[in-house]
Amino acid sequence: MSLQTAPTPAEFAEAVNESMPIAERLFTELEEKTADGVGVTRGSYGEGEQIAHDLLQGAATSLNLEISKDPAGNLYMTLPGEDRDAPAWFVGSHLDSVYHGGNFDGAAGVIAGVTAQAALQRLQITPARDITVMGIRAEECSTWFVGHHGGHLGSRAVLGLLWPGEMESAVHVHTGRTLAQCMDDAGFDSSYFRESNQPYLRPDNVKGYFELHIEQGPVLHHEGFPVGIVTGIRGCLRARSAYTTGVYTHSGAVPQEMRRDAVLGTAELMLDIEKQCTEARASGRDMVFAAGKFFTDSDHHSIVKVPGSVGFAIDIRSQDTVVLEEMQTYVTKRAAEINKRRGIEIDLNEMSLVTPAVMDKGYRAHMQRGAKLLDVSYMDIPSGAGHDAADFHDVGIPAAMIFIRNDHGSHNPDEAMELDDFALGTRLLAWTLATLDE
Ligand SMILES: [Zn+2]
Repeated sequence: MSLQTAPTPAEFAEAVNESMPIAERLFTELEEKTADGVGVTRGSYGEGEQIAHDLLQGAATSLNLEISKDPAGNLYMTLPGEDRDAPAWFVGSHLDSVYHGGNFDGAAGVIAGVTAQAALQRLQITPARDITVMGIRAEECSTWFVGHHGGHLGSRAVLGLLWPGEMESAVHVHTGRTLAQCMDDAGFDSSYFRESNQPYLRPDNVKGYFELHIEQGPVLHHEGFPVGIVTGIRGCLRARSAYTTGVYTHSGAVPQEMRRDAVLGTAELMLDIEKQCTEARASGRDMVFAAGKFFTDSDHHSIVKVPGSVGFAIDIRSQDTVVLEEMQTYVTKRAAEINKRRGIEIDLNEMSLVTPAVMDKGYRAHMQRGAKLLDVSYMDIPSGAGHDAADFHDVGIPAAMIFIRNDHGSHNPDEAMELDDFALGTRLLAWTLATLDE
């Protein structure tokens, strides 16, 4: 469809508004059926996630969309296009949540996709190619699976991104079952991923990937924009299980200069990284940092001891690969200096570097143009958190994301997305899917 023959912006707005009861009903039912007394719980390959998949499949069936599933249990809901053989536009997000999570993180993107499909049907648009909405499994798997894994297990499985042995080294936090067993227990087929010689989703069957998601930070709320067009997804440099060894000794009797204090040495490294971070931002570079874990050993620690050991983690994120690479060098060098001077042993173990995912420039420009036509007030914004969109990008499928204003962050029961803002984002999504093939 060309922009000349497309419905007017006002017609797009009306079609989405008239389709909003579908979204409202889905959000309400999803919350009711997966409520846990505090928030919602939809564990990866668990009961709540399945409830969400069943609800979405039911809604898609009512809209006469084509339904299919892959061996990892991801759900596909397709509005057929004119050329059935052409690679499809994909719209996706995840249907699982963290424990005691909020109703919108993940689900909003899948519901927006189905609502956009309903709006296109209402406008009697047959797209040039299939438009497939994907309900993705196990994006929040870092909450549900421990052991050696790279996260985003549902999308990475079908994109061919799982590491060798990852299906066995990812272990469910409650049941102790491996990812492969959990997938099979839920009725899917983990053997496919050991035996297939090409990924289930590839650039030759997915033309481009779009994901709508609530913003997980306060920026849109603070700046007063309902919608964000995402510029890129930050990469990260992580030390997941670092450990410092010093010497336990008496906290009063030993002179300060003779101590080998594991906490103070590790704290020095943390504050030095924070300083680098502040300087990077002051010079216009993107970087944030947290030590997600920092703990002494409860079997040995005491108020009367100089601490002799600390477990900790490092999570540095940036939109700039060079920043992450420079920080890897810095952290390693700085740890060695501190070790030498303080007589301790900071062991960073394995550090992993995930490069940033830049969102497709062409899609972004198209969406910016659409937002102006559709009267959707937006700002360009980076994504601090990881998303399935980054995995599509990593296999060469162009990706773009729309953020929706959300107060109170995410991964908690207080997520606060307004349905009016969601409708604006969905309007932009529906228009984009209908007009990109001009
Ligand atoms: Zn999410």
